[in-house]
Amino acid sequence: MSTQRYDFIIVGGGSAGCVLANRLSASGDHRVCLLEAGPSCKSLVVSIPGAFAYFMFSKKYNWQFDSEPKPDIRHGGPVFCPQGRGLGGGSAINAMIYIRGHRRDYDHWAALGNRGWGFDDLLPYFRKNECNERGGDDYHGDSGPLYVSDCRNYYRINEHFLKAVKEAGYPLTDDFNGPQHEGAGFYQFTIKDGKRCSAAHAYLYPAEDRENLDVRCGAQATRILLEGKRASGIEYRANGKTERIYANREVIVSSGAYNSPKLLMLSGIGEKAHLDQFGIDVLHDLPGVGQNLQEHVDACVLQESLKTDGFTTSPAGLLKLAGEPFRYLFGKKGKLESSISQAGAFLRTSEDLDVPDVQLHFIPLLYDDSGRDLKLMSKNGYSCHVCVLRPKSTGRMSLGSSDPDAPPRIDLNFFDHPDDRKTLVEGLRLVRKILAAPSFDEYRGAEINPGPEAQSDEELLARAKARLGLVYHPVGTCKMGSDDLAVVDDELRVHGLESLRVVDASIMPTLIGGNTNAPTMVIAEKAADLILAG
Ligand SMILES: Cc1cc2nc3c(=O)[nH]c(=O)nc-3n(C[C@H](O)[C@H](O)[C@H](O)COP(=O)(O)OP(=O)(O)OC[C@H]3O[C@@H](n4cnc5c(N)ncnc54)[C@H](O)[C@@H]3O)c2cc1C
Repeated sequence: MSTQRYDFIIVGGGSAGCVLANRLSASGDHRVCLLEAGPSCKSLVVSIPGAFAYFMFSKKYNWQFDSEPKPDIRHGGPVFCPQGRGLGGGSAINAMIYIRGHRRDYDHWAALGNRGWGFDDLLPYFRKNECNERGGDDYHGDSGPLYVSDCRNYYRINEHFLKAVKEAGYPLTDDFNGPQHEGAGFYQFTIKDGKRCSAAHAYLYPAEDRENLDVRCGAQATRILLEGKRASGIEYRANGKTERIYANREVIVSSGAYNSPKLLMLSGIGEKAHLDQFGIDVLHDLPGVGQNLQEHVDACVLQESLKTDGFTTSPAGLLKLAGEPFRYLFGKKGKLESSISQAGAFLRTSEDLDVPDVQLHFIPLLYDDSGRDLKLMSKNGYSCHVCVLRPKSTGRMSLGSSDPDAPPRIDLNFFDHPDDRKTLVEGLRLVRKILAAPSFDEYRGAEINPGPEAQSDEELLARAKARLGLVYHPVGTCKMGSDDLAVVDDELRVHGLESLRVVDASIMPTLIGGNTNAPTMVIAEKAADLILAG
């Protein structure tokens, strides 16, 4: 067993971990080790924006978790919970949509007592993080590591979607992250020169030659080492061997919303009664670990198309796309230079609300079960997905075993709160209204889901549950705060322990109303300042 010492050990090289590895090693004054369970993600496939669907089938780049089955959801089957695995983490396999959420989301965190986490506190970090190809202004950065660009090479049906939104009486916006968040428009993407700009591309690869930064891939942390109440190091497995490394200053857990609480629990940090079930020595009783799980749970309207200009896996559709790999390889052009989810919206299901409560992702294909329903995809069609932006139901991540290789148990518990059920049903009605607008007349075929027979709230909810999906934004399982279920304080230090922080999407006390990659990177940007000031 080898022994090595660092100033900081970061566990997990995902969206947050890559930012931390760069910022903490930048001065050259600190020795930093980044442990990542997965691969380096430098392969061509990771850089191709249009390869999104591939990752759903990949064990190499995706932890491929499943939720606990429930009889009324997906006909008793699990909901698929993909999570990025490898340098870049979620940002190496995600749909690359660049969204910050609503300023109210962060002001709410501050109102809960988390000092320094309001929108005005975080806006400088969003600008520091971003290099927007449209240029900088009061909202946007133009010289940060994360490149943000407009959609190129979009499917024409997206224009019909935007016209239909207007016809249905909803607003348009040309910048979801600027002064007018509400409305429909084209998303911006973390794509640079036709290549994915993951957190690794933006922050880690440019820094990995630093002598004081040690990046170890294929290294899965199995335990945080504690000396009394102080985190002193990490035990991890690599190449079939168990190794230990030690931290002079801090251990920082950035393993994502499922794997961070899992690592804490495996290390004896968590709810005593739960750890007792698995015979894990309880070193620190902290009941909130794994609780407060929130996700953007998603329902869809699937519509057959009378036209053939979308994406389909039918033989004719694939033949049409046969030249795309060449267009991409020899010029980074064509359908593969863009994400498949190109247009969307943040809208209110009721005029009584003062902020959008649903997000739409319009997709020019019949997309269900995270793109794994290939039979459905072989028909011509389009889908509009709707998610509840600020769910009131909370679920739980727990252990199924004390074996570090066992997957976590994920109980999304999404339909616990009646308001979530109502918002999802109203969201489906809103989507139907848009898809019924005149601009879709030349496209509109039969509605496959929810299906014309589903009209009542109960029927719509049942149909939503039957095809329930996720937008892949789990958060909250190591939440920041000072209440009984809080795991970290507002400097992201684990309550009751020393030299241990959690820095990733799991610390969000409440789910922000939008996609979570940029917000997670911003959490890490702020955390780096807090750590270096400590
Ligand atoms: C399929 C998919 C599509 C998405 N689409 C979008 C989108 O379009 N836009 C957007 O904004 N957000 C999107 N997201 C969400 C966003 O990518 C995540 O919220 C974000 O990446 C979370 O960052 P993180 O640092 O918390 O965790 P992650 O990025 O998941 O990083 C955790 C890292 O820790 C590693 N790890 C885990 N356990 C261990 C261990 N024991 N030892 C060592 N390493 C470990 C993992 O392999 C992983 O690399 C998507 C996510 C997914 C999965």
